[in-house]
Amino acid sequence: EKFKDGLSKTRNNFANKVNDLVARYRKVDEDFFEELEEILIQADVGFNTVMELIDELKMEVKRKNISDPTEVQSAISEKLVEIYQSGEKTTGHINIQEDSLTVILFVGVNGVGKTTTIGKLAHMYKQQGKNVILAAGDTFRAGAIDQLEVWGNRVGVDVVKHSEGSDPAAVMFDAIQSARAKSADILLCDTAGRLQNKVNLMNELEKVKRVIEREIPGAPHEVLLVLDATTGQNALLQAKTFKEVTNVSGIVLTKLDGTAKGGIVLAIRNELNIPVKFVGLGEKMDDLQAFDPEKYVYGLFS
Ligand code: GDP
Repeated sequence: EKFKDGLSKTRNNFANKVNDLVARYRKVDEDFFEELEEILIQADVGFNTVMELIDELKMEVKRKNISDPTEVQSAISEKLVEIYQSGEKTTGHINIQEDSLTVILFVGVNGVGKTTTIGKLAHMYKQQGKNVILAAGDTFRAGAIDQLEVWGNRVGVDVVKHSEGSDPAAVMFDAIQSARAKSADILLCDTAGRLQNKVNLMNELEKVKRVIEREIPGAPHEVLLVLDATTGQNALLQAKTFKEVTNVSGIVLTKLDGTAKGGIVLAIRNELNIPVKFVGLGEKMDDLQAFDPEKYVYGLFS
């Protein structure tokens, strides 16, 4: 239900328009596909993905000799899911180590919802009975450390921090020692998100990762890039830049509740080949969900 509520804007802008299109046309023709294309583009599905989808739909219509638009409607949902899953199947799976410390690194520019996501995930894992620690690795932005502490208090987990301006790699080192001393299960690490200077960003992330790798072979177990769904195609550009500076293993797409252009999920998956692992559907502690493409697409059209 929360999932459905959170997607109401996208449903109105995207799914309802498709439903309306299907109701208006009596037979599937070139105009029908042109209008469908327009709706998909408007929903930020992404140009290449839209072209792929339309081509496949046209082939299906030909192969099955379909003329009734309502028969195309179910094919649209099927193809959307199929396109999403053309890489690997993902239903929010996170590489959790069962018997040892799992380290998850969060990257992304300021304001996308990185701190909020860390707080929400800490809450989710704590509810699963796991011992969670947060590392305040964004030592650059004023207020970032305090903000993470607010979430730590809210959720009831420890935050390892140094003072503003200190070396983030040193914060990670301390956080790992602390996690070991407390036999923590999961360490969630914040990082600074300056895109203005790519070289600095890369150096800082590399240094942080080096410390983590040295302390725990095989870690970080996930590098999650946080993107703001309301920024649309700009989110795609950010993702491309972060892909150049570090190995991103998954995406958290925030503020999906705040956009009518939820097609961006498909564009990200299809154009970057990075799975979306979680979606943010609000500002509160429980407003984070593992991303399941079938649930998403069928939820939109139901
Ligand atoms: P950071 O700078 O990347 O750490 O971003 P913050 O975590 O401070 O989030 C920036 C703003 O976005 C805050 O006002 C959050 O409450 C809000 N926010 C984060 N995630 C979501 C979400 O999924 N939905 C909505 N509506 N707001 C969100």
